[in-house]
Amino acid sequence: MDRNDIEPVLAQCPTDLFLAGRWRESSSGSVLTTTDPARDEPLTDVALASEQDVDVAVAAARTTFAEGDWRGPPPAQRARVLWRVGELIERDAEKLALLETLDNGKPVSKALAIDVVQAAQHFFYHAGWPTKLEGETVPVSWPHHFAYTIREPVGVVGQIIPWNYPLIMAARNLAPALACGNCVVLKPSEQTPLTALWLARLMEEAGLPEGTVSVLPGLGETAGARLAAHPDVDRLVFTGGTATARSIVASSAVNFKRLTLELGGKAPFIVFADADIEAAIRAAVDGAFGNQGQNCAAVTRIFVERSVYDYVLEGFAAAVGELKLGSGLDPDTDLGPLISSGHRERVERYLGVAREEGAKLVSGGTRPDRPGFFLTPAVLTDASDAAIISRVEVFGPVVTVSPFQRTTEAVSRANDSPYGLAASVWTQDLSLAHAVASQLRVGCVWTNCHGRFDAAAPWGGVKESGYGTGIGRHAIEEYTAPKAVWIDTRVGARAAALSGGART
Ligand code: NDP
Repeated sequence: MDRNDIEPVLAQCPTDLFLAGRWRESSSGSVLTTTDPARDEPLTDVALASEQDVDVAVAAARTTFAEGDWRGPPPAQRARVLWRVGELIERDAEKLALLETLDNGKPVSKALAIDVVQAAQHFFYHAGWPTKLEGETVPVSWPHHFAYTIREPVGVVGQIIPWNYPLIMAARNLAPALACGNCVVLKPSEQTPLTALWLARLMEEAGLPEGTVSVLPGLGETAGARLAAHPDVDRLVFTGGTATARSIVASSAVNFKRLTLELGGKAPFIVFADADIEAAIRAAVDGAFGNQGQNCAAVTRIFVERSVYDYVLEGFAAAVGELKLGSGLDPDTDLGPLISSGHRERVERYLGVAREEGAKLVSGGTRPDRPGFFLTPAVLTDASDAAIISRVEVFGPVVTVSPFQRTTEAVSRANDSPYGLAASVWTQDLSLAHAVASQLRVGCVWTNCHGRFDAAAPWGGVKESGYGTGIGRHAIEEYTAPKAVWIDTRVGARAAALSGGART
């Protein structure tokens, strides 16, 4: 793929705000220049939403919600629109994958096979929900009373997403919120706004009523903070780092808005001696370094049973050494660049601290001689569980490998983390796998696999990985609220007579 393939797609990509159903410049006139991380060169200019733009979008969402343009029509109509968005994502798959690669740096083959496919899947899956938002009858103990519930959308939803999987994050948040009849204001990361804007255009084409969704690229500290603090946003769904999450929790107090927080992770990868070792090594390489390690579920701490430790470490280091770094546009590339120069420096600082604290660098952690924000994948051993590298979320191509003797030791070390998002367990003894899964304090355990995601499977963390569940049936519960309706069945002369036992 060369520049001749790229320019026409970039030229077609919307760069204005999608504000209340119209494409507009920012009210402040500001733009932000996005960067191609593989070349360290400007990519394109995108309108930068101001706080006033956020206010306009929220007001439009409130009006649209109140007037019922989206939640009012028969649910099958919402289902059709959502399904159509999925089809349009498939139609534009190659363009979306290209834009994701240019903006984020990830290999285009992965963007096509993972990001675009999953984004479409979120719309197809959630298209099934509008027709299934059932209430229930409630067996209350009051004589002559009947009670039931209606599942209603929560109202105006704000969504703030990061840069690592921009299209998937937009789709997996928008699809369930819209399925339930909510109106949404979404703020993509300032670093990767392009695929969310393209998706906005697809939603427009699919027939989403004006004002139902706004997509506002903007800065976290202005547009993001305004959305989080907005008194007319009913639920805020935030995917990002813990420091930002703390400010969002504080802001939510303004109107006690409901929150879903999808935060970081420090996933342990536990390999028992009886595991299919070759499969475990392949999955560890992919899990640690896929998306350049910029993944909340990335494999970050590999624990290997002592008897196979040397064999696994050797095989793992050899497989990592085979990974090919390069532009995401090159079909042979396994690892693209990191998202920015600042982020690469942050990762390098953690590697420096790790070595000061006694960890040994087996391989990687160096800058290849080429433009762009590349860093070779780093494998560390001898990091203590208390070391900073074992505790913080580096969010880059860095993994620690260490041996364990006993199952209880593996479990307690895996749990010794402020985070609790995901983990994987490798063994052919399924009883052991179930026992370990039940002991791990995380939101998701994979057995003999890592990094499986599906629109139907819940996703959410415990501890500092956040709270709430953003995917699947559980997300539907978060985007709706039950309303209880009571009826005194004696009201009305004929009904009173009936409850008194008389026939009319
Ligand atoms: P940040 O928290 O820095 O940013 C996330 C989003 O929040 C961005 O859109 C950012 O805007 C915005 N933001 C920044 N400051 C504020 C603020 N004060 N108020 C409101 N919004 C703000 O995280 P990163 O972008 O660095 O993303 C990486 C983090 O996301 C990692 O910790 C990762 O683990 C987590 N993550 C969690 C996932 C999960 O499912 N649990 C999935 C993917 C990532 P801007 O871009 O302008 O800074």
